Amino acid sequence: MPSAPRQGGKKRLAPFPDLLRDAPAAAGKKPAELPVFAPGSTEGHGLRQPLFVPMSRDEMLALGWDQLDVLLVTGDAYVDHPSFGSVLLARWLIHHGFRTGLVAQPRWENPDDLLAMGRPRLFAGISAGALDSLLAHYTAFRKKRHDDAYTPGGKAGARPNRACLVYANLARRAFPGLPIVLGGIEASLRRVSHYDFWTDAVRRPILMDAKADLLIWGMGERATLECARRLDKGQDIRGIDGTAWMDKPDASGQPANLPAPMADQPWIALPSHQDILGDPFQLMRLTQELERQVHRLEAWTYQQVGDRVVVLSRPAPPLTTEEMDELYSLPFTRASHPSYREPIPAEEMMRTSITSHRGCGGGCSFCSLALHQGRRISSRSERSILDEARSLGQKNMDRGKGPVAISDVGGPTANMWQGHCALDSRAVAGDPEHAAPVRSACRRSSCCFPTVCKSFITPQRKHVDLLRKVAALPEVKQARVASGVRADLALRDAEALAAYTGEFTGGQLKVAPEHCAPSVLALMRKPSLEVFEAFLESFVRQSRAAGREQYVVPYLMSAFPGCTDEDMYTLARWLRQRHWNPRQTQCFIPTPGAIATAMFYCGRDETGEPIYVARTDAQRLRQHHILMPAMEEAGPGKPRRDAPTQQTQRRGTGPRAPQARNNAAPQGESRAKGRAKGPSAEGERRFPTARGRRA
Ligand code: SF4
Repeated sequence: MPSAPRQGGKKRLAPFPDLLRDAPAAAGKKPAELPVFAPGSTEGHGLRQPLFVPMSRDEMLALGWDQLDVLLVTGDAYVDHPSFGSVLLARWLIHHGFRTGLVAQPRWENPDDLLAMGRPRLFAGISAGALDSLLAHYTAFRKKRHDDAYTPGGKAGARPNRACLVYANLARRAFPGLPIVLGGIEASLRRVSHYDFWTDAVRRPILMDAKADLLIWGMGERATLECARRLDKGQDIRGIDGTAWMDKPDASGQPANLPAPMADQPWIALPSHQDILGDPFQLMRLTQELERQVHRLEAWTYQQVGDRVVVLSRPAPPLTTEEMDELYSLPFTRASHPSYREPIPAEEMMRTSITSHRGCGGGCSFCSLALHQGRRISSRSERSILDEARSLGQKNMDRGKGPVAISDVGGPTANMWQGHCALDSRAVAGDPEHAAPVRSACRRSSCCFPTVCKSFITPQRKHVDLLRKVAALPEVKQARVASGVRADLALRDAEALAAYTGEFTGGQLKVAPEHCAPSVLALMRKPSLEVFEAFLESFVRQSRAAGREQYVVPYLMSAFPGCTDEDMYTLARWLRQRHWNPRQTQCFIPTPGAIATAMFYCGRDETGEPIYVARTDAQRLRQHHILMPAMEEAGPGKPRRDAPTQQTQRRGTGPRAPQARNNAAPQGESRAKGRAKGPSAEGERRFPTARGRRA
């Protein structure tokens, strides 16, 4: 087990008046002009939105609040942006009348930081932040990271390993008897038995180790709000959709104390923790069952762990368009809290990007989003997105910077905006935007693999129309798609592909073939190489027609379960034939909750057939070196000597490969654009919750 990073640094918060006096840059105004409330905010259900969610007692009192209802604790610094889950939830709770405060990256040697605003009335919500804390701290080769884009100054070390457990313990010490609720990606993906790459072991559900009463999994708006409402009324919080809790088993092994409404609902028994320890393939069975459960929205599940049971209620339905619009219309300043003295890298990365939707129908086996956000897509309306673009531009102009360049209008996969299943009854009813989501009988694990399902509706031309409308706003200089498009979907609509290529790529388009070996692509649930090559051919043709010099940024992966050294040589030869020389390739990281992680653990594919797994660091590194031989000279974790600097990558002025023109990206091209976390020199990517997964 790697050692824990250093303890939290010195306290970062200044008293509220000083904090505002010392932060004249906040909101671009002089301190005296900084309002306590968000400009133009009105009362939602009894509360006006603050300019910033309070982080200190003075800020809380300035809002006229004598006590918090809910305290949220997060492992990220506070950037008032909807991409930060705890911030989104804090504003959502305030919008619904619950006085909510935020403690960001507290020191963890004692609970003092959690006590800054006193004991909350209802509950404390705990999140490790936008990333699993171990993924944030260690590389694919288990080396300690020194950077953290979610921390002031970009420095690692401001949150502990297994932050959920540590913060929950702190909260229990600070507020004895107060309900503690876990949430966020770390808790969500560790809600049942899971493989932990960093200790090379199967760990028990996180609730077995955390001092918490409830765990909210998946996107948490509905469950968090319902939790606050029930506690406000003194009701039982067990049974809320999208949550988990611990129980005792009865004689048959089922949960003994189910909330009444669940007794009549369908349920699924997951393989027990002991079953998984005895037969590694049971982890695959568990992951497949959960994947189905998340998509079908109908059953509750349970897993026995020794003499306890973890109970998972039904998934919370994804938000409707109306709800998404309501959520994203909240007055996020998009700035970091004025108490911070150093810039937070993620703030700059996200400053000009707009989230158009969440969820992804792709179901790639290495991605845990299917277990977190689900395959259903929640999209914002065109009006809501245009409003945000207008407001972003206006803020830029108010600062004297002129119309804004929007870096991204997208989601996990940009060309899935308003994507939906034609068999879902809300779509059949002809009102995909406003009707409540429905359950599904679909048993496919992907809407795109092995081929794009004919029922998967992806109105890409509407997305292109939206992008054109955004770009045409007087407050906007240009609009781009940085979050990547899915090649198989883009090929369905030549007109949309021409528009993405000719108008919105900004010279580079991210696409994720991931590999070229058919057997590896099948294990990844990715489309065949022919699909990528057809896309590439079309991209080159359209770029020439538009008279533009453009590049595809191909995402590739090494050491995937089932991928042999020979498969990597096949990929290397394929790249060489095209004169491509990728410098940043992700080495597969088995993150908790993914199907590919189960493959890694049990050494079998989804059907139970044995597969080769590059398991040791040496085997993984060897595969990585086949694509990136120069790393052998520099050593893992060290950049190539001729790699462009971050600055040249950002400006796109790094060295170019003439052979790659109109197909692959320039050498050394950063894949960090539009992502909350960029790749390290080892070529990894770390994925935030709502955005930034590959397409
Ligand atoms: S029927 Fe097709 S589009 Fe609908 S959920 Fe299943 S795979 Fe996706």
